[in-house]
Amino acid sequence: MTDHITVYTARMVRTMEPALPTASAVAVRGDKIIEVGSLETIKPWLDAHPHTIDNRFADKIIMPGFIDPHLHPSMAALLLPMHFTTALEWHLPWQDVPAIRGNNEFLARLKEIDDDMEDPDEPLFAWGHHPIWHGEVYRQTLNGISATRPIIVWHRGFHTLVVNDAAIAWMGMDEADGERHPQVNMEEGRFFETGLSLAFRYFNHYTLAPKWFEGGLERLRQVVHFGGHTTIGDMAAGMFDLEMEWGALVKVLEQEDTPFRVQMIPPGTPMGGGDKDPAKLLERTIGLRERNTHRLRFYDHVKLFADGGFYAGLMQLGPPGAIDGSVGEWMTPPETFEHVARTYWNAGFKIHVHCTGDLGVELALDTLEKLQWERPRFNHRFTIEHFGVSTPEQVRRMADLGALASVNIYYVHELGDAYWKNKLGHERASQMSRLGTLARHNVTTALHTDFTMAPALPLNSAWVAATRISEAGHVMGPEERLTLDQALRAITIDAAYILGLENEIGSIRGGKTADFTILEQDPYEVGAENLREIPIWGTVFEGRPFPIKHRTKKDK
Ligand SMILES: [Zn+2]
Repeated sequence: MTDHITVYTARMVRTMEPALPTASAVAVRGDKIIEVGSLETIKPWLDAHPHTIDNRFADKIIMPGFIDPHLHPSMAALLLPMHFTTALEWHLPWQDVPAIRGNNEFLARLKEIDDDMEDPDEPLFAWGHHPIWHGEVYRQTLNGISATRPIIVWHRGFHTLVVNDAAIAWMGMDEADGERHPQVNMEEGRFFETGLSLAFRYFNHYTLAPKWFEGGLERLRQVVHFGGHTTIGDMAAGMFDLEMEWGALVKVLEQEDTPFRVQMIPPGTPMGGGDKDPAKLLERTIGLRERNTHRLRFYDHVKLFADGGFYAGLMQLGPPGAIDGSVGEWMTPPETFEHVARTYWNAGFKIHVHCTGDLGVELALDTLEKLQWERPRFNHRFTIEHFGVSTPEQVRRMADLGALASVNIYYVHELGDAYWKNKLGHERASQMSRLGTLARHNVTTALHTDFTMAPALPLNSAWVAATRISEAGHVMGPEERLTLDQALRAITIDAAYILGLENEIGSIRGGKTADFTILEQDPYEVGAENLREIPIWGTVFEGRPFPIKHRTKKDK
């Protein structure tokens, strides 16, 4: 390891360390921070060791590298090569995707994509359909777009797809196969929930093939850097096929020029079922760590699932239920959930539980309380993930039980108005992702995007957390806002805590890893309303600067 020290000066270093919140210089040796302070205070290091003063950030703001503890590289790899047809606009490194509203506009866009595609046989995959904004589409509707090109329209929340005749022919699917399946409607060309897996089996040779999947992961790599992240959590590693995914992840992400690490959190039971014998589950999960590389690391964290998807509206709701009378789903039946949770709890794992509705949260907390009774643990880091609908009493109970929260705050922005009008009513819709209550009870809280469930832009997440502005411009539940400082902690030091990495990353102090996000403006100066507009210069990962290559107008 080199003895040479590099000192980065800055207009402001925002350390996220309350003991020394601001500084003007940070000294780095190899991949570690030596000291943060000023050129004057760090002088003893510089007198004793060879060093360089690097002023490239002299007019910029240095923050700890941003952390998203919950996103899905594999889901992103599948979806990023598709055409985005979402109701809200998306800023991606290679393109700004405009919002598409209404059924006519949605179908017109599909037609336009079809016209633009050169190869007449290439399947058209479109992601982002949501009936609340786009109305229903059916097999017949899509036949009207093209009688010859396979068209696959994928739901915004991932759980449903609709196909045309040409797609069924391309898939080589026996229609009788679909007709027998309870979650397939062949007449409508609709595959949902477990029916989705049936359809997927017929075309995963295409979308999980290296050309598609590795291309998608390469895009994911750009997306993660573009958002200013230096650490992400893969919160269900091995979504489709662990061996294939692991091979592709190592190939695409374990590269010298990949400026971030990925904490791999596997599902407690392999996706799609498998062995429930506790000894075998543990052996398999612990065995995954033997694969670890420099950037991709399995460790003592595991992911469990309670209730259904939030965009799909399949959360389990307590009284008074949903306006439309719909009922949610369990992703894990409650009796299985307890058994699997106990297996990992007793082995000392840090457990993360996907919970979208208040009954999902209740299941997780009942289980946690029972496990505490059976076998008390301290510093267990049991984390509620997503936290769409909850009650204030549950937050108080989380505090009592030592549970943590990793919250998808974008629900408030994208779904706040829609769920007010269609599903929950205003009282509950405005209190989705109730961050303010978590803060009032001192529950350590991170923000995540569950990408592609929200744009992988931490400053955008912090903006929603501190303003709670919905897509229609309403402030939803102002008492549930975080302060600017709390919101920034939730994408840095508190996110590091959720991943169990607070001793290594998440703030800027001597001894930690030199991971920084470099901003053109100071978040504390521009204020909560302007957080998402702050330009990001790039990042420093393990001591090495990585500028973001921004698009010029002519690239568009
Ligand atoms: Zn997720």
